Parts: sequence; C-alpha cells; structure tokens
Amino acid sequence: MRSYRFITKLTLSLLTLLIVFSLSVYAQNKKSKKNLDRTAKLELDGQNVAKNKTSKTNQVSSNTNPGKNSNNASSAKKADRCDTDAAYQRRLQDPAYLEHLRFVESKIAENLDRASIPCDATNTVIIPVAVHFDASYDCSNVQCIIDATEAQINSLNDDFAAANADLAMYNEIIANCGGTNVVSDGVCVSFCLANQNHPSSSGLSDGQPAITIGEYGGGFGAGGTGAAEWQGYLNMFVIDGLGFGVADGIPGALNGDGVSQDGSFFGGPGFTPCSSGGFLNDDNAWNLGRTMTHEVGHYLGLYHTFQDGCADEPNFPFDVNDTPAQVAPSGGVLASTNCAALATGCIAGEEVQMNYMDYFDDLSLVMFSNEQAIAMNTFSNSVAWANDAVDTGCSDYTEACLFNCSTEAAFGPADGSNLTLCADEGATIFIIDDSQLNDTWDWTFTVTSGDISLSTTSSTDQTPNLTVTSGTSGTVEITLEACGSGDCGGCETITQTYNITVLSGDACPDDCDYTLELTDTYGDGWNGASLEILSNGSPITGSPFGGAFTAGTSETITIALTAGETIIFNQTNGGYPGEEGIILTDPFGNVIFDTTGGFVGTGEINSFTAYCVPPTCDDGVQNLSETGIDCGGDTCPPCPTCPEGTSVLLEEDFESCMQPAGWTISTTESADVGNGIFFDTPPDGVPGGAAGPSPDFVGCIAMIDDDFADNVGVSCIITPVIDLTPYTNTSLTFDWQHEAVAGGGEFLVQVWDGTMWVTVFSADDDSNGTNETVGLDAYVNADFQVQFCYDDEGGFQWAFGLDNVAVCGSGDCAEEISGAIIPSDPLCDVSGIEVTIVAPDGTSTTVITGADGTFTVPGGLYPCGDYSAEITGALPTCYTDASGPTTIDFVVDGDAGTADGPFFIANSNVPTLSQWGLIVLALLLMTFGSLRLGFRTIAFERKK
Ligand SMILES: [Zn+2]
Repeated sequence: MRSYRFITKLTLSLLTLLIVFSLSVYAQNKKSKKNLDRTAKLELDGQNVAKNKTSKTNQVSSNTNPGKNSNNASSAKKADRCDTDAAYQRRLQDPAYLEHLRFVESKIAENLDRASIPCDATNTVIIPVAVHFDASYDCSNVQCIIDATEAQINSLNDDFAAANADLAMYNEIIANCGGTNVVSDGVCVSFCLANQNHPSSSGLSDGQPAITIGEYGGGFGAGGTGAAEWQGYLNMFVIDGLGFGVADGIPGALNGDGVSQDGSFFGGPGFTPCSSGGFLNDDNAWNLGRTMTHEVGHYLGLYHTFQDGCADEPNFPFDVNDTPAQVAPSGGVLASTNCAALATGCIAGEEVQMNYMDYFDDLSLVMFSNEQAIAMNTFSNSVAWANDAVDTGCSDYTEACLFNCSTEAAFGPADGSNLTLCADEGATIFIIDDSQLNDTWDWTFTVTSGDISLSTTSSTDQTPNLTVTSGTSGTVEITLEACGSGDCGGCETITQTYNITVLSGDACPDDCDYTLELTDTYGDGWNGASLEILSNGSPITGSPFGGAFTAGTSETITIALTAGETIIFNQTNGGYPGEEGIILTDPFGNVIFDTTGGFVGTGEINSFTAYCVPPTCDDGVQNLSETGIDCGGDTCPPCPTCPEGTSVLLEEDFESCMQPAGWTISTTESADVGNGIFFDTPPDGVPGGAAGPSPDFVGCIAMIDDDFADNVGVSCIITPVIDLTPYTNTSLTFDWQHEAVAGGGEFLVQVWDGTMWVTVFSADDDSNGTNETVGLDAYVNADFQVQFCYDDEGGFQWAFGLDNVAVCGSGDCAEEISGAIIPSDPLCDVSGIEVTIVAPDGTSTTVITGADGTFTVPGGLYPCGDYSAEITGALPTCYTDASGPTTIDFVVDGDAGTADGPFFIANSNVPTLSQWGLIVLALLLMTFGSLRLGFRTIAFERKK
C-alpha cells in the first residue's frame, strides 16, 4: 500500500494583507491609463516581436540535453511557452463557454466587495484534480507516473500557498532594487488528486487515484476534446512532445476542460526526470512545475502580466492592477541584482515581477500578486467543483496500481460469435489476443457439443494455432488466463464460447469455379504452348495447363478460385502462337478476357482479382470491363475525369465534333482540320492497330492522320493556356490509342513548362490507354499548355486517337472561409454584423455574423491570392459606447484548423470608432507589411 498526502503545505496562517482600495476606483484608474497607452502600444509591438526572437534563440542554444525527443521537440517551440491566448480566442466562439462567462460575471459581482481573503474554513477551496496522460505514456514505469503526479501537485500547492522556498528571491530583489512588494501570502486554494466517487464511466474505484493513461488526447487548447466525464475537476492533460502549455479558458468552465502541457515540464523541484512511454520533467529550463502553476493561473481567471502590452491586461473577468503593464514577455533567468531587467515596465516606477504569469524560466517564476490571488480565490469560490471526489483531508490511495495498469485478459473474436469456417482453407479459428500488461498466456480449448474435433486442447502461445480437424458443427469454449509480472502483476481469466460451422467446396462462400477454355484456330492443339496460372504468386493446382491439349480446337478446364486472390496468367508460346488463344469466364457467365485466334505474346498476359459474388458497380473492385474501380466500361457509370479532392481546370470530350474553342493546331505539314486532323467519329480503321480503340472512346474523338501528306513532319492538337500557379496536385488525364505501322510513327504528349515543351508521355507501338494520368506539379506555370502530337518518324504513318482530356488541380483554395469578430469583452453582442469578403477577381460574398460573432463563406472554387474582409454593416453598439471595450479582434481562418490547406494571414486589433484612421493604418501595416486598406477592412492571403 502506498499513501500520499498532497495537502501538507496548506498554509492556514492568517493573511494580514488588507486591500484598502475599492475595485471601482481601480477600474476608473485603469480605464484612463489604457486610453493614454493606446498609442504607445502600437509603437511598442515591434519591440515585442524582436524580443521574442531573441528569447527563442537564447533558449534553444541553452538546451544542452540532446538526444531526448521530447526535450528537443519542446526546445524548438520555446518561444511559444504558452498558447492560452489563442486557445481562449478560439473558445470564445463556443456559445456554451460564453454562457459560462456570463455566469462567472454574475458570481463575481456578488463578491466585488471582498477586500481580502480570510483564508479560513469559509472560503478555502480544495480543487479536485484528475491527471490524464496521453497515449504516448504507458504502464512500463508506473512509479514514474505516480511520483511525477505527486511532485507536480505538491509543487502546485507550494506555489499557490506562497510556501515555495524560492519566493525568497523576490524579497531579495525588492531589497536590492526597491519597488513595492505586492506578493500574495497565498491564494487559499489547494489541489488534491481526486481519490473517490470517480465518474462511473472511468472504471476507477474508490481509493484509486484519478489518473488515466491513453484515454484522452488533450484539452481543447491542445487540439483535444477534453474529458467530458470529468466535470467539476481541474483536468491536467499531460502530452508528450506538445512543446508548450495551454489552458482551455480564462477562466475555465469545469465542464471537462482543463490545462494541457508537455510532459517534459510536468513534475516539480527536485523531481528526477523519468519516462513511462513518454518523458516527464526532463526539460532543462522548465522543470520546476511552474508551467502548471502558470496554466492553472489562467484556468482560475488570470491573464499574462504582459497581456495587451502597455495597454495592460483586460479587466474581464478580473481587474488585476498590481501587476505592471509590460511591453513584452520576459524570458530566461533573472538575477536578484539585475535591477535594470526589472525596470522594463511601461510606467516609470512600475517594475516587472517574477510573476508566475510571465515567461521567465521556471527558476525565476516565484510569485502571484495580491490581486491575482484575490481573483483566483474569487473564481474558485464562485464555481461548483466536484467536492465529493476528494476524501477528508485529501489523504490516501489504497491501491498501488493505476486503473489502466492492471493485467487484463481479452481476445477476439467476440464472445458468442457464430464462426463459419471453410475446410478447403484449413478451417482455422483465428484468435487475436487483445490482453493488456500481461507476459504469459494459458489457453484451453474444449468442444462442448457437436461432432467437431480440434487440433489441440491447450497452448501457451500469444497467438495460438487452432483448427477444426473434422466434423461439420459444434460449440467450442476457449479460456484464457493472462498473467502479468510487472509493477501491477496479477492474472485475469476470461472464457468465451463460439458456435462453429464447417463448410467445404463450393459451399464455402468465398470459393467458386471459373471456366478456362484453351483454343486453337487450326485445330491441332497448342503445339507445345503452355499457360501458368498463379494465385497470390503460387501456381494453382494443375498449373501449367496446355500440355495435354494436343488435338482439336478447344479444351475446357474448371479452375477453383477464392475471392480476393490475385490471379496472374503467364503464357509460353508453342510452335504456332498465332493459332493459340484462351477464353476465361467467371462463375456468372461473364467473359473476363478472350484472346481467341490471336497472337498474345509470352510472359504475363493478364491479371485480375478473383470474385465469387456477381460483380457490381459498387463492389469496390475493378472487374469485368470497368476501366477504374466501379466505373467505366460497358455497365458502370463513366469514371470521374479528375481525382477526388481536385477540381476540373480543363475538360474536353470533343462531343461538339469540331475544333473546340480555345484549342489550336500546329503542323509542319499542310494539314488542317478535316485534312489530316479530325474532330469526328472514327472512320473505319482510323485509328486502327491490333490494340483496338481505347475502351472509353465515345462519340467524336480527336485524331491525327499523318498519312495524307508527306513522309516528313509533326502535327499537334493544343489545349488553351491554363494558369496552373494557384493549384497543387495537378494532373492531366486522357484516353488514347495509337497505331504503329511496321514500328513507325510516335504519339507524343508534351507540356509547356514556361520555357519549353517537355515530353511527358509517348507511345511508339500498337497500344491504347484509359484514364492515362500524368502528374503536372513539376510543370506548373502561368502559361501552361498541353499538346498532343503525331510524329511520322519519316514515313507515311497513321495515326492516333484522343478523347476525354482533363487537367485537374487540387482545391486548396476551394475550402470555406470562416472567421469571427471577437471583442475583448466576450459579453459584447457581435451577432448580426455584415461582413463582405472580396476575392482577388473582385467578386464578393456578404455574410452575417452568428450569435457568437462567427461567419462562414461556404467552400467553392476560389482563386488563391489576396483577399479582404470588410465589416460593411454597423459595428456593435458596445464599440460606439465610450465606456465600452476598446479593442476588437477581427479574424479570418481558412479551413477549420487543419495544418495544410489555405494559409490565411489575418489577426488584427481593430480599434474603436474614435480611433479609426491613422492608428488602424499603422496597426495593419505593422501586422501585414503591406496590404490594401479600407474602413474596417482586413486583408489576408490565401496560399496554396
Ligand atoms: Zn500563459
């Protein structure tokens, strides 16, 4: 038994600090200061960027711990220590979260007259914690998981109680450098790893710690979906390799949301790094548990101390005034004698603190301010934590093993399954072990009814071999005892029962007979020719065939195939190959291929996938005459001209039976349309050749007949110019057929790459193709064209046919445009605002924001390039009110957050009406470099 006591440092000493100023006075002061600082902020944002870059460089170079993946991944992202601001902006688009904020606002209003934190039994809050390790973590080192959790929660309790030993550094700085000491004596909030009354769906029992492994991917801010079952808890999501910390809201909603952070920052002072699948506490700079302190600070209602630069933090949900306005985040480590580094606040006399809500390394994050403590305590007292999840005093865990880390026996198929086996295929019962954390397997197999017999009665293999050796039906009982020897040890036994039916021959659903006819037009058999038939690479029974076919015109053979087998026919010619042929017919009477009376060559002459149910146009297999999977040929709908996910940039089926608009011809001879170049139904024998026409030729096609003129020259049919630069995944498809005479004449497909014609396809023999596809990404340019040419190679040759030409490109810029108008006060009504999106070609779309300020322009084939989004209707009234919020974020985004797809650059503070003009010009220019400007307009670029 292990016992943990996390609330050992809860400080119950009386807080003597008195807050004598009323909050309303603070609010007045703050508002006027903000207006004064507006211009300053614009000038200072540039420094902010520069500072971030410097900080990043320093931190990367200070990483002296190579070789650990998680550590390397996090160091690359260290400039983005915390992603809460962005996560908060996203979450403000969730109406349920806005409702939560309104609730918080109303609760805070009830508490506004509180001037101190009594920190007594009436308002000390115990917050139940659940810790969720992502799927990178496993049970290979349970002690590491438990100890790191303990260290992290102890560290959190020290920090929130102002009981952290390094708090002395802040006092030293005040002593060395002067300034007003605003340190909090404690938040009167403590954290307890939940240990009882767990959510029923969790599977956890009373006494087990609230730790899950691999159950949740992360909080909303980390791209996960939270842990909906864990409402009323502070959920901590530990993610290997995340690279930063992020809280799901300012404040959180207690609805299964929480805080997420990289496991490399998870732990606390003195905790030795360890790993259990993923790493824990192994970062060089952020290894004192302060990332969690910082993120929990957000979750309980705090902004960054540097939020909004010299404009200072927003005053919702809490008005915190004893942290100085900062130009930019701090970074690195601060020496207690470095007074210059402290003097970077925006207001003379206000000095930067070693505040948990800043970005110093963990070594220099040591304190919350008084008003931060009041804010967090007020929030914590305003919401409903799952109080019954923690026992009195937050005391014991009675089980050493984590829930996820116990031996579990499991296997498939599912209990009670009816299994139909095929004797011809070995009548194997396929058993799949799905046990967890076990090292040994002990299987027993028993026939409990019926006439069947089994190949064995027991096995200790993880994947046992079990077959039915005789009989046709019965019931089998399978028992598995799985045992683990690790930290959590123990055995579990499971028994499952199956009803078995054994079939054979054609009764097996996947077996069926094909008919193969060997033919000889002369009537004297195959004269030594032979046909090898391979199934999944191995000869089928009876292969090779033909040796006994020594007389007559035909011999018929039945071949038994199993659905899904890949069948290959290899032929070896005999003395008279021009006489030999084969006809293969499927079980349903469809001729799969027929080479009667023709020269079919040697080697592989055909291949197909066997099927034992009648082929259809939706069976997911290319069969019968289909030219693609379930498309083309005699019975199925035509194949799409462009691959899925791409758009048609050019499509031509020549069904106008004349030269298509925009298409041109070129010739070195005297050819012209109707005179060697045709857009017509193929006349007899044109194009000809042994291969025959392409199977998807329909109606009129394009042709070049080079035979009419002379024996020297090249003629081409050329597409219109297509600007391919906005597109990716570009391709050309076409159906073609070429006839060579005595090896002469060549069919060439060439593309214009911007400087020259490049051959991307050619055919120099009798052949054809359907849905021939050529990738074009290497040839993308604004003047792209394709030419289909015939080179007579110095002879009187003839000819090619062409049909169903398409040029395709990906819809990278076809996805929807979404955006939002986001006020700094989330309670401002931003619904019903008219926004107009203007595309590079001048076309525009006007949309109206929804209740949460968001808007969406449905997807379509938009050109990539420079866009603008403009608020064309009235601004919300809270912006025309002088006492209203002072900034508005106007954001557009490309594609619902996926990493690829269109890239939008737009995220701007849009000032109030009174501040339009030069300020917006300066701000937008600073954000975007250069762009088109208009009243209430932001510009953005859609890139492929
Ligand atoms: Zn943060």
